[in-house]
Amino acid sequence: MNTYNAHFAAQDDPNERYPLTDVVYYSQFGGLLEVRHDMEALRTRDAEAWKQLFESRWMRTSWPYGSGVWGKKEWVCPTVADENVVSMFEGGTNLFWAERFGRELGVEDLWIKLCGNSHTGSFKDLGMTVLVSVVKQMISEGKPIRAIACASTGDTSAALAAYGAAAGIPTIVFLPKGKVSVAQLVQPIAHGATVLSLDSDFDGCMRIVRQVTADPNSGIYLANSLNSLRVEGQKTVGIEIVQQLDWQVPDWIIIPGGNLGNTFALGKGLLMMHELGLITRLPRIVCAQAQNANPLYRAFCDNWRYEPIQARTTAASAIQIGDPVSVRRAITMLQRFNGIVEQASEQELADAAARADRTGAYACPHTGVALAALIKLIERGEIAKTDRVVVVSTAHGLKFSRFKVDYHEATLAEVTSRYANPPRELPADVDAVRRALDL
Ligand SMILES: *Cc1c(COP(=O)(O)O)cnc(C)c1O
Repeated sequence: MNTYNAHFAAQDDPNERYPLTDVVYYSQFGGLLEVRHDMEALRTRDAEAWKQLFESRWMRTSWPYGSGVWGKKEWVCPTVADENVVSMFEGGTNLFWAERFGRELGVEDLWIKLCGNSHTGSFKDLGMTVLVSVVKQMISEGKPIRAIACASTGDTSAALAAYGAAAGIPTIVFLPKGKVSVAQLVQPIAHGATVLSLDSDFDGCMRIVRQVTADPNSGIYLANSLNSLRVEGQKTVGIEIVQQLDWQVPDWIIIPGGNLGNTFALGKGLLMMHELGLITRLPRIVCAQAQNANPLYRAFCDNWRYEPIQARTTAASAIQIGDPVSVRRAITMLQRFNGIVEQASEQELADAAARADRTGAYACPHTGVALAALIKLIERGEIAKTDRVVVVSTAHGLKFSRFKVDYHEATLAEVTSRYANPPRELPADVDAVRRALDL
């Protein structure tokens, strides 16, 4: 008997609800659906008991609970049968004290949560394990699903293709041509996905994949973050951060935002902990955007009045989005967390990443955006010297080698490479080497 339960709920009508295994993305009135848990059932276990349960499963091998996501299965997706879970033991990524970088910036208690140290190199694994597991459950119940599709700025498609391949479910990915990194492009290719490279940007790919999947007879299930199943997995990031800090709540969590599903997810996980008594206060959340793709930042500066924009090119390509799907719910969430939105220019994000790298990090450009926001908030006196700050690093730096190479070769657009460290080319001659090393 499964005592825990969850369903899709409409935000605007409490009576409109659907099983998580229904193929449904929007409410009758066109709003996004949300996964709602039976909180009464979850309350039958007290906060201490939840902590103990989560600790007992953390990073062990017992299927599927050794996964950071499925270790919190009752809170994430209790309705999937264990045998239908598709997991590569995502989550449980390291949270480390960035001591030197923090000291350089003037904060003593700076932590980086390396979500990119995951199976496909980004936090997208956290959500995709849930979505693909639910699809496997649907197929096992006889639903006519032929494939799963998504539009992507690169990392979503890599995660979808990997998890689809692990489950034996075909996947179709829509990518904006020339706007994803080589690593991101080759991942779905390697996993056998159908890769459609469209002469458009992310927003354009999104429009087309929505049209293709709108026909319920297409048999193609839509995996973009308007599909709230992914939020359920991604919300574990905030829970993990608190768990890894021995259940202490940091003062600030800074997260880069594009489509804004992850910003919403971070808040959702923390609110759930608060509701169930595992924490008694909330951190402040900072959403960091690239200045070249900053619709949320503009809204923040204009009393939260939102208008979509045409996103311009940014090295932080995974957040090059002008009309974020989750903008409404992200704004509501940020208001709940006394949130701030900051932006970073190409110069600022590239320098922040390079400076962090000099202290041992290996920051992707999106993490650079978050770090640049951190620097600005410290300079403004908003973040104090003794505050505990966690920066969410969303992808592995190795997925963005071109960005790093271009920075150190000083060929990055809109950027003067102040921290460039290019290799020195020398003849294979010991005297030349001695001279170069001042010996
Ligand atoms: C997807 C992604 C983001 C943005 O997440 P959203 O939910 O779209 O706001 C940030 N960084 C990386 C590396 C990503 O892949």
